Amino acid sequence: MFKTTEDQKEYIRETYPEVTDHRIDERHWDLHCSHCNMTRGFQVIERSEGREYTNYGGVYSIDSEAPYSIYFRCPVCSGYKQWILYKISSREVIEEVNPGEEPKKKTVVRYYRVTSLPSEGVEDMEEIPENPPSLRTAYKQAIRAMDANAHIAAAAMFRRALQIITRDILDATPGSLAAELSEVVGKKYNGVKITNDFSDIGYILKEAGNQGAHPDKDPDLLEFTEQDAQDLQKIFMEIVSDLFFVPEVAKKSREDFLKRRKIGSKTI
Ligand SMILES: [Zn+2]
Repeated sequence: MFKTTEDQKEYIRETYPEVTDHRIDERHWDLHCSHCNMTRGFQVIERSEGREYTNYGGVYSIDSEAPYSIYFRCPVCSGYKQWILYKISSREVIEEVNPGEEPKKKTVVRYYRVTSLPSEGVEDMEEIPENPPSLRTAYKQAIRAMDANAHIAAAAMFRRALQIITRDILDATPGSLAAELSEVVGKKYNGVKITNDFSDIGYILKEAGNQGAHPDKDPDLLEFTEQDAQDLQKIFMEIVSDLFFVPEVAKKSREDFLKRRKIGSKTI
């Protein structure tokens, strides 16, 4: 619980990712469109601000301590998403001056994202098999954790998702993840032989996940940044894509080709 609005602001600053850099102006924000697969200026199509009723002539005034939501739309594909944000303005020092003098300050507005709907990155889930359901659950939790600025938790969840792949999909003998990764090399999945690449990429996820789960003595490893988690997500999706998506696409185009050329199945 908060005692003062200052406590509340402090909590917001410490807990949620700052997204001020994404804002271009009142009507536009630079966001990633998962459909167009690029970052571009999204339009603000609707903004609801926290309002409170005042006694003066039945008008509303904007409550600046309340969260507000923005609907963004991609100008190209018309896909949309919603963010719930806090806007905090405060006097910040912009220039240090000589000791004893008053430092130069100005009012700076910063934006913090409480959540996004859908969670940023969750669209990639289409590439992940539905079975076993625990795989999508682990991935979804990793994404939710990233959305909530909990990047260490995200690393641990990506590691867990990888282990679900090795054990439940590639049938590795349950053991350490390192052993499972080397065991599956050479096995066939979906008609494709699992190579050392899988094991090598998996190793990165395993190591990062272990760092996420166990406190490390190396001070450089204590902080897991947003960038680290985003990189891990990319690495994880690389595995998913190589394992489940690319073979499906290849199989489909082979089948289409055979059908087009009227080549039937091989008979001896
Ligand atoms: Zn788009």
